[in-house]
Amino acid sequence: MRPEILFPLFAPVTSIRGVGARLAKPLERLAGPRVRDVLFLAPTALVKRRATTVREAHPGEVATLTLTIDHHQRPRRFGQPWRIRASDRSGGVNLIWFKGYGPHLETSNPPGSVRIVSGKIEPDAYGGGLQIIHPDYFLPPERAAEVRELEPVYPLTEGLTFRVLQRLVREALTRAPDLSEWIDPAFIAAQNWPTWKSSVEKLHAPTGEADIAPHAPHRRRLAFDELLAHQLALGGRKRRRRSEGGAAIGPSAVAERVRAALPFSLTGDQTRALAEVRADLGEGARMTRLLQGDVGSGKTVVAMLAMADVAAAGRQSALMAPTEILARQHFDTLAPPLRQAGVETVLLTGRDKGAGRRKKLELLSSGAAAVAVGTHALFQDEVAFANLALTVIDEQHRFGVNERARLQAKGEAAHFLAMSATPIPRTLELTLYGDLDVSRIRQKPPGRTPVDTRAAPMTRLGQVVERLRQAIDAGAQAYWICPLIEGSEDSDLAAAEARAAALKQTLGAERVGLIHGRLPAAEKDQAMADFAEGRTAVLVATTVVEVGMDVPAASIMVIEQAERFGLAQLHQLRGRVGRGAAASSCVLLYDHPLSDIASRRLDILRRTQDGFVIAEKDLELRGGGDPLGLRQSGFPDYRLADPIAHGDLVRAAADHARLILSRFPGLQGEGAAPARVLTGLFDWRPEGGEAG
Ligand code: ADP
Ligand code: MG
Repeated sequence: MRPEILFPLFAPVTSIRGVGARLAKPLERLAGPRVRDVLFLAPTALVKRRATTVREAHPGEVATLTLTIDHHQRPRRFGQPWRIRASDRSGGVNLIWFKGYGPHLETSNPPGSVRIVSGKIEPDAYGGGLQIIHPDYFLPPERAAEVRELEPVYPLTEGLTFRVLQRLVREALTRAPDLSEWIDPAFIAAQNWPTWKSSVEKLHAPTGEADIAPHAPHRRRLAFDELLAHQLALGGRKRRRRSEGGAAIGPSAVAERVRAALPFSLTGDQTRALAEVRADLGEGARMTRLLQGDVGSGKTVVAMLAMADVAAAGRQSALMAPTEILARQHFDTLAPPLRQAGVETVLLTGRDKGAGRRKKLELLSSGAAAVAVGTHALFQDEVAFANLALTVIDEQHRFGVNERARLQAKGEAAHFLAMSATPIPRTLELTLYGDLDVSRIRQKPPGRTPVDTRAAPMTRLGQVVERLRQAIDAGAQAYWICPLIEGSEDSDLAAAEARAAALKQTLGAERVGLIHGRLPAAEKDQAMADFAEGRTAVLVATTVVEVGMDVPAASIMVIEQAERFGLAQLHQLRGRVGRGAAASSCVLLYDHPLSDIASRRLDILRRTQDGFVIAEKDLELRGGGDPLGLRQSGFPDYRLADPIAHGDLVRAAADHARLILSRFPGLQGEGAAPARVLTGLFDWRPEGGEAG
């Protein structure tokens, strides 16, 4: 329930004086439907209005002049503007109004009257003089104080002028209540931040460039508020989930047998991640954990051992992968060691039909099979589990919230383990996954040789293809990544289809496969399978190549127009090779000349193979905006916080939220009243956004 003190802020924008149906539309489009949304519309720049004289004013600047009206020049023909000639002692200027201004302009501003005029100075279209088109201010001298020397500039939308918006913001500000402080007194004192109300006021009344910058104290405070509200929502969700309780499952002899049967021993990071998962499982609280690690870092093995524990406890697990081929690969990895330890495992995908499918469904509903691996097929209505206690989701960002929820719903308060191969920087991890516990696997299993990474200009394409031919003659397999399919004529992006055709000519048609996003699923799977099973030597692909796809024999990765990819994306693409024992290589083809940033990016990639280091550097280089293209993947849409510029505040907000939630579980009680106001203010929906 929203605290009462916030009611005025959550009234519709039409409650702002001066906002009728006509203004409400553009205002809602720009800011949002409520008064609060108008308050949180942050100015993006400042205009300086220089008070000056006609002679001293230069074209391009925004100037405030004190002028006497000389005469009016009415439009002679339809479509001509209304012009006023006005002057001060130093010279004259034309004031121009297009349509909608009639004779009232003349009656209310007769020749001889003095007016304060402020607007952008432009050279007169007819040479020589100066003009102002649609002055921002055109006022009698007694209202001169309305023209402020510095004014905030807001993003605008059609139907709203900046003066109208400024007026509405000022109106909205009168609704801002004094709110009790939710930030820890010692912390806010150390930061020297203003109160919430003065911060919002200051947001809309900048007095210099420094006030517009993200590090301005009031801006940092508001950013912190938003981050804190979000962390409180995420943390609250996490606590609620845990309090639901889950089956208590201990480490098992079965898992030990599975582990002993593996031809390798776990890396330190795998052991630690497994211990964290086991601590969750053993606690009787419900696990919601994210296992993060590069492709090939061995996440699946960790999941498998947890599944073995679950099986030993007489319960079931399900592992869901985004594609048929990934599900199949997981099954091939998991089934033999699990079966050897007596754990029956079934694979369920869209391909299962008729009697075969019925048999598998029976194994799951009776509980005879303790582990299910599959695709979306796993959460169809006919699929029932006897006692599902753990769901594992691979490449979790590839599934929608509902899909995850539907699998979760197959079990009662089932433990949840997500796996992701997209390394993201810490600060972003907190904002994206603040409601999950995160285990990271950084170490690669031993014996992996680093991928020899080189950059080469497109002009060396011929040599690259020739070396590729030699390599595949010797039995190697290669991915060839193109940025776009069907490049249009005016696009310089290489088209995957054209590339595939060209490579078929040089390398032999039967040795080259093609996969792209517009292929039907069955054909995609077929192209993947042909490559995975060695029937094709080169797989030309758009970036759809499955992130988790494991073709250990593939040892060469060629990426065309590498400068167009994000660093993290390049790293993930490269991660598809270097998985077998053979020495691997990655060729980054680029169009000459390379920009400075692009060459630094390629350089970072050459120097390190650690996905987390790369993610941090990528963030640094990009500096802002939508790093890593995360906005599509559920990245929160902050209004006042910028997780990059305010990166240091993310962690502080998370710590703060933890503290508040531990003192006031569920934000209950009088002491948590300010925090409740804060979460109400930002309105992060406490539920939704994440499965389980
Ligand atoms: P991920 O799911 O993180 O992409 P996988 O769990 O599929 O990685 O592991 C990738 C490959 O590495 C698999 O073939 C797996 O058998 C192997 N592997 C996993 N852990 C180890 C280890 N500790 N030592 C050697 N090989 C390992
Ligand atoms: Mg994987």
